Amino acid sequence: RDDAIPTISFPGGAEVPAIGQGTWNMGERSSEAKREIESLRTGLDLGMTLIDTAEMYAEGGAEKIVGQAIRGRRDEVFLVSKVYPWNASRKGTIEACGRSLSRLGTDRIDLYLLHWRGDHPLAETVEAFEALKVSGKIGAWGVSNFDTNDMEELLTVPAGGNVATNQVLYNLSRRGVEYDLLPWCQKRQIPLMAYSPIEQGRILHHPELIRIAKAYQATPAQVALAFLLERDGVIVVPKTSSTARAAENRDAVSLDITDGDWAVLDAAFPPPVRKRPLEMV
Ligand code: NDP
Repeated sequence: RDDAIPTISFPGGAEVPAIGQGTWNMGERSSEAKREIESLRTGLDLGMTLIDTAEMYAEGGAEKIVGQAIRGRRDEVFLVSKVYPWNASRKGTIEACGRSLSRLGTDRIDLYLLHWRGDHPLAETVEAFEALKVSGKIGAWGVSNFDTNDMEELLTVPAGGNVATNQVLYNLSRRGVEYDLLPWCQKRQIPLMAYSPIEQGRILHHPELIRIAKAYQATPAQVALAFLLERDGVIVVPKTSSTARAAENRDAVSLDITDGDWAVLDAAFPPPVRKRPLEMV
């Protein structure tokens, strides 16, 4: 293809596609398993080899789906999973990681995230992450739903500077991170992972988005993804259980939107003019 997926580099050197695949809501119903696995495999075939999951999703069910989807092709995949905050003690993190590994049917997670901040001291979680790195069970670690002040605090704990990513809510209708968190990450070359990149489908009905998409013979989802792919150091992880939509989302990389149309989208989805607390879904 002439429209190769752009890549993003992690501090440790790993290179990943800027568009990967989310898995929230997968593994909830056994009747959907076949479609979910097929969709993830199609996504891999199309180059979306970063897969984002979590112990939370379907309480382990999503990790099991991922495990089936990557069976026999583990080495193609950059695997991201997350630990619940209430499991993120020194010992609990190691144990949770072990359970995730067995559900995923692999011996390593490439990037392991603290899903959101909880009550366990960051220093303990980081210590566990570093131990998991040493034992080879994870390749790198990061955080999720951390605002700028949380990132600053993380840098004060031992080895906190090894944070490889912050995964946050970011899409056209949720641009708060552009005020300070995204520049903060970009300055330090820490890739930011944008979750719910199409606002779980809710923005796809926006008239301006529909209008612009039509002008490019594209879909609103593709424009919403292209908006994020345009940014430096941003990885997007749309979720779909449909092979057709996996292909559609992947093709967002070949959209080339003019500055004039970006300006139209800025007017429809204004960027932040002051600090807003980080939003979560
Ligand atoms: P998304 O913005 O990715 O939207 C997913 C929804 O949109 C699904 O209902 C999907 O339905 C639908 N969809 C996908 N592609 C298209 C398309 N081309 N056209 C129309 N509809 C489409 O939401 P998510 O919240 O799932 O976010 C993505 C991923 O980010 C999650 O799956 C998860 O991995 C991660 N995440 C992380 C969080 C965190 O706290 N760290 C929080 C939330 C998400 P269908 O499957 O039927 O196609």
